[in-house]
Amino acid sequence: MTSSSEQRAVVVGAGMAGVQTAVSLREQGWGGTITLLGAERHPPYDRPPLSKGVLFGADEGPGALLEVDFGGIGVELLLGRHASALRPDERQLLTDAGPVEYDTLVVASGAEPIVLPGSAGVPGVHMLRTLDDAARLRPVLEARKTVVVVGAGWIGAEFATAARNAGCAVTVVEAADRPLAGVLPERIADRMRGWYAEAGVELRTGAAVAAVEPGLVRLADGDEIAAEAVVVGIGARPATDWLAGSGVDLGPDRAVLVDDRLRTSVPGVYAVGDCASFPSARYGRRLLIHHWDNAVQGPRTAAANILGGDEAYDPVPYFWSEQFGRFVQYAGYHGASDEMLLRGDPDGPAWSVLWLRGDVLVALFAVGRPRDLAQARKLIAREARVDRTLLADPAVQLRAAVL
Ligand code: FAD
Repeated sequence: MTSSSEQRAVVVGAGMAGVQTAVSLREQGWGGTITLLGAERHPPYDRPPLSKGVLFGADEGPGALLEVDFGGIGVELLLGRHASALRPDERQLLTDAGPVEYDTLVVASGAEPIVLPGSAGVPGVHMLRTLDDAARLRPVLEARKTVVVVGAGWIGAEFATAARNAGCAVTVVEAADRPLAGVLPERIADRMRGWYAEAGVELRTGAAVAAVEPGLVRLADGDEIAAEAVVVGIGARPATDWLAGSGVDLGPDRAVLVDDRLRTSVPGVYAVGDCASFPSARYGRRLLIHHWDNAVQGPRTAAANILGGDEAYDPVPYFWSEQFGRFVQYAGYHGASDEMLLRGDPDGPAWSVLWLRGDVLVALFAVGRPRDLAQARKLIAREARVDRTLLADPAVQLRAAVL
């Protein structure tokens, strides 16, 4: 299908996935109007820099702004505009500034941070999701405040890194018995404890927060930790409340349930990025991915399908993180039953971990080995069979381990 100039595409959410959808639609030949609306007032920006460079920046963080000439490509940008409901029967999106008519609609409303119970509204408690959050945190770093970070996940580790670099005293409290529990196996995650210690960050695991009060964090075991600022990084969930009653099917995790063409249960409505889960034939399960690469790739497939294509979306998931002076990357998807193989010395500066299902490489976690990542990603995509002995030898290129 090529769209006529009367066709109206509306994209809800002006984050990476929404922007990428608008740009891809135009690039791939959408001839009608494109309206991109986002609840935030800032011009669209990228989130990964927020827990990295932007926290140190002197101004609003121009490094995070997305360089897209929306006017030049004929995309109407409605900022500070909140979608409140969808009425598919009338092909109408309701917003806080009146209804918007559409022919095709793409849900790209992303995710919102999970609130630590009892912490909302407590002075000195922060989240880190938006440019405004980062702006509120910058003075905390500048004043070298004593900070408690709740959650030793990706955001918690990145913020702890930034806060230490700024000279703050930092304690990270984590309810699980190790950092990144649920993401990485104990043998690997345990190595990361040393990263915290090396950076001068106190990491307290098995430490559930019972309450946050002005100036302190109270743990379930009764301990109290003084905190001039508290940063909560305990995960995010799809921002899809506004779809209630629309007929768009949501999962128990609140993700929009799309099919492998990124179509929702409502005709003419697609969903991409952090707000949607898709069925992966590659991994035999539905995936909800909260990483940048998915917010870039999914929209290209959605745009192709909106324009009459028939493309399945089944990527090899990828993400990176920068923490404690290390560049960390992961590609693929592994389960508890997959065989794990070490490549290099995990006490050294550069090493990888690989997961195999039979002889097939399914995932890789790399610390300071971007070449491993680049090669593994391709091998995982083509479900390459590999030689274990060669794979475990860090001096051998991964691609040379293919059987
Ligand atoms: P979002 O970025 O959440 O954008 C959705 C937008 O929709 C938001 O602006 C929101 O305000 C708007 N919206 C929501 N509801 C409505 C509504 N009802 N009406 C209108 N607008 C609405 N990933 C990596 O792979 N590597 C990293 O190093 C990394 N670092 C990160 C650091 C931080 C601090 C954060 C927060 C995330 C990081 N990520 C990283 C994750 C990555 O940034 C996200 O996966 C990506 O931004 C998701 O894009 P999205 O467009 O789907 O959602």
